[in-house]
Amino acid sequence: MQPGSRIAVVGAGLGGVAAAALLQKAGFAVDVYEQAPAFSRLGAGIHMGPNVLKIFRRIGIEDALVAISSKPDFWFSRDGETGDYLSRIPLGDYAVKEYGAPYLTVHRGDLHALQVSALQPGTLHFDKRLTAIVDDRSGVDLTFADGTRARADIAVGADGINSRIRETLLGEEKPNYSGWVGHRALLDKDVLRKTGFDFEACVKWWTHDRHMMVYDTTADGREYYYVTGVPHPAWDFDGAFVPSSREEMREAFAGYHPIVQTLIDATTEVTKWPLLNRNPLPLWSEGRLVLLGDACHPMKPHMAQGAAMAIEDGAMLARCLTETGLSDHSTAFRLYEANRRERASRVQAVSNANTWLRTQEDPAWVFGYDIFEAPLRGESEV
Ligand code: FAD
Repeated sequence: MQPGSRIAVVGAGLGGVAAAALLQKAGFAVDVYEQAPAFSRLGAGIHMGPNVLKIFRRIGIEDALVAISSKPDFWFSRDGETGDYLSRIPLGDYAVKEYGAPYLTVHRGDLHALQVSALQPGTLHFDKRLTAIVDDRSGVDLTFADGTRARADIAVGADGINSRIRETLLGEEKPNYSGWVGHRALLDKDVLRKTGFDFEACVKWWTHDRHMMVYDTTADGREYYYVTGVPHPAWDFDGAFVPSSREEMREAFAGYHPIVQTLIDATTEVTKWPLLNRNPLPLWSEGRLVLLGDACHPMKPHMAQGAAMAIEDGAMLARCLTETGLSDHSTAFRLYEANRRERASRVQAVSNANTWLRTQEDPAWVFGYDIFEAPLRGESEV
């Protein structure tokens, strides 16, 4: 731990790193503890909406992210079988003008690496799997699997859906399996182009109980990515994900449009992930411990806003702690929850229902939101 450190962030995922960078920028001494030995560029893409880009502007990585990302002009929703257009949601220049920042799709690993680069050097500690955390009222003691310990004034649980800090506050409880899995694959767009089809930069193919979301993950359009939502009776596999196959994809998407069949034909490697969630938690903080992101409100990923909510949480937490100072962390935590619970719960509900942008709707309530400009609601207003 660096000398004089006061805030421990546990988990260096997209939410934890955003919280840490903003807290450091606000002048707090922050250390981040991550269980992984290092980060690698795992095969997955991610959407980042204007609501998040405004946060990255504060962190100082907006321009660098725009430079490496795809900037789709539209989000298209199409009937999985006929290919008919169900919605055409304008993004591109429209998003910049209407929502105050671009809408991007990008490789998740590239985004994460950029976020990590915004941390103060030497403050991210790998190979630190939190095994125990004790709030003794004057501070927090953290114990890691390698036998080392750290102390801080407060700890932020940004440790994902199986959060050790959530477990400390609320007891052991497995997440709920939603009954759906997501397949993920990265494809070579040059190979796809040779088929003669038009592969749109951001398109979701839907039928009544399943979908395939497809988009570019780089600015130069060389990489294409799909992620699905497919019903699957039980998750009876070990581990966070398992390999899938072209055959399984063909079966899951039988009857889908020829463009989707072409994507499946071009698949060289595909993985299958359980889609998990939890019921809303009865509390977001207690004493010196506070939760954010998937540790707090995990959701099915169908609105492409799960990480966005984790990053917004980090920004609001930094804003509230800056408002009150660390000595009054209790007020900061209450303010944080008062200003996050309603929005995060609404996004969680829409995401779980998988209705987002299926038809021509106005996404302004999500994309137009500016977490730094929104008036801060007092605790009494909740
Ligand atoms: P995580 O990203 O899970 O990070 C938690 C971190 O904590 C990890 O680095 C982990 O190693 C570490 N950790 C865990 N336990 C410990 C411990 N005991 N000690 C120390 N470290 C620990 N969201 C979007 O916004 N857009 C999308 O397009 C999108 N697509 C998705 C597609 C799929 C298939 C899935 C499954 C999710 C998708 N999401 C998307 C959701 C998004 O991935 C999550 O909501 C987001 O990653 C949550 O961020 P987080 O920082 O809270 O948690």
